[in-house]
Amino acid sequence: MACLICGAKREIQELFSVRAYSQLRVEFKVGFCAVCGVKMVMDPPKDLSLYYENTRMRESGNPFFRLAKNFLLSTEANRIIVGQNEDRSLIDIGCGSGDFSHILSRKGFKVISADAVETVPKLLESTGGDINYIQINFADILNSLPKGKMPRIVVLRHVLEHLIDPVDVLKGFVNAGAEYIYIAVPNHDHILDRLFGKNFCGYDVPRHLWFFGKNSLLKVAERAGLTVLSNGVDTVPMVCASFCRYLYNSSFPSLIVDRFLNGGVINTISFPLDVLIPGNVRWLFMGKFR
Ligand SMILES: [Zn+2]
Repeated sequence: MACLICGAKREIQELFSVRAYSQLRVEFKVGFCAVCGVKMVMDPPKDLSLYYENTRMRESGNPFFRLAKNFLLSTEANRIIVGQNEDRSLIDIGCGSGDFSHILSRKGFKVISADAVETVPKLLESTGGDINYIQINFADILNSLPKGKMPRIVVLRHVLEHLIDPVDVLKGFVNAGAEYIYIAVPNHDHILDRLFGKNFCGYDVPRHLWFFGKNSLLKVAERAGLTVLSNGVDTVPMVCASFCRYLYNSSFPSLIVDRFLNGGVINTISFPLDVLIPGNVRWLFMGKFR
């Protein structure tokens, strides 16, 4: 079997099994490509939708958490650099609560927000129609985009690791007319991956199918025919979430596990621990040049 990320025809080596963080406590095998270094779920289930229920991705957490998050998102939005007078159409795929779309819109981008659920995020409903929301199917993103002109900029924050074939999807965007793509994914080169091993919250199987480091992420850009314009790392709360996974994988009762969930008080006050070991998210801003 060839590696879908780098194309190398090498045996994928099995690393470990980890339990899904879901009602369905199924275990999945995680494998490793020795050529590009990407790790992946070895046999992803046919129907991934079963694992997307009961997720809390649309909640924004407590006020302090929201304030810190907005500051980080604003910094992040400044990385998307296209000329002031050029076409600023953008699609924010996997928009979640809509906060990044909202910030991009305020910075002058013409934003379409897209996610898997039918209902429009509350935040976007309150913006007075500046931002269009569309429902998309992540198993077939390209065919679920609205017909007509492809937005010039594609934002994929914490999306690439969920896709069956990331390179194919990026190529599809470029072929459809996208010129810039911004990506952010959990950073599996980070020390938390070594400290926590399979309990690192980046191993959110099978919602996450791919686990990227710098080398494998650059490989994705190269194989999609994109030029890396800028790249770097960010820091988000992951220490507490990884500890939460450790408790979950060690079968602690949910009463204890739930105290460490994202957006909770312990998660918020533990953020200084993450700041001590920064860089748990990796990002790339890429462009297509003829
Ligand atoms: Zn590979």
